[in-house]
Amino acid sequence: MSNEDPILVERLGPITRIWHNRPEARNAESEALLRRLDEALTQANDDPEVRVVILGGKGEHFSAGHDLKEWKEKRSGFGVEERWAFEEECYFNYCMRIWHFPKPTIAQVQGACIAGSFMVANMCDLIVASDDAFFADPVVITLGAAAVEVLIHPWVMGLRRAKEMLYTGERMTAEEAHRIGMVSRLAPRAELEAETLKLAERIALTPPFALKLIKRSLNRTADIQGFGNAVNAHFDTHQLSHATNEFRALSLAGMDGAIARGKSRLGT
Ligand code: ZN
Repeated sequence: MSNEDPILVERLGPITRIWHNRPEARNAESEALLRRLDEALTQANDDPEVRVVILGGKGEHFSAGHDLKEWKEKRSGFGVEERWAFEEECYFNYCMRIWHFPKPTIAQVQGACIAGSFMVANMCDLIVASDDAFFADPVVITLGAAAVEVLIHPWVMGLRRAKEMLYTGERMTAEEAHRIGMVSRLAPRAELEAETLKLAERIALTPPFALKLIKRSLNRTADIQGFGNAVNAHFDTHQLSHATNEFRALSLAGMDGAIARGKSRLGT
């Protein structure tokens, strides 16, 4: 178990770069990591010199999603009330704070971007991905739960593609994600960091208050189309899916399988 900070924060002039920093665990989003991420974002927002935030992951993968090992140890016995409270705070509200973050945000994605981290990356305004990145939300298939907590999928890839992703659990390649507009820019793996920084530096030249206002209007456009109501409604449905017989039957087996697959990929 590493004692390192699960989040690293760097300042690069007007840009704050925040890293998932658990590469030995494929950057699995533990409770501690999510709390630190929320703190780092609050600090970046409070600092008037910060113009743009980049959210990345150290190591081979952006992130494999929520920390299932921790989930199994700490939260598999949760009832409806406890799970609702935990997921509302750490999964739903933390995500929505990224969505509503007043300054521009860019996700820098390589390798795996799965489930919980797919949700986090898609809360950002823009995504720059390496050509080997892939995106997936397999939790309907593996755990019998109704996707992740924030149903961002139809808003970033269209309804039909979201149905295919969630019904099959299959991965979307970076190339496809770019072609359909979910990923803003593609870069070779070796150039991902530089390309993301270049885009952030370009945006940092834009007048900051105008940026804040245009982001507000663009997000409100989504809200007028029903975004806020739709994701709120899904959160309730998602909680219902955690209480089903299907979830109970599949979750422990699915969780063990997912943990084992993660370990075998790491060779541990
Ligand atoms: Zn959940």
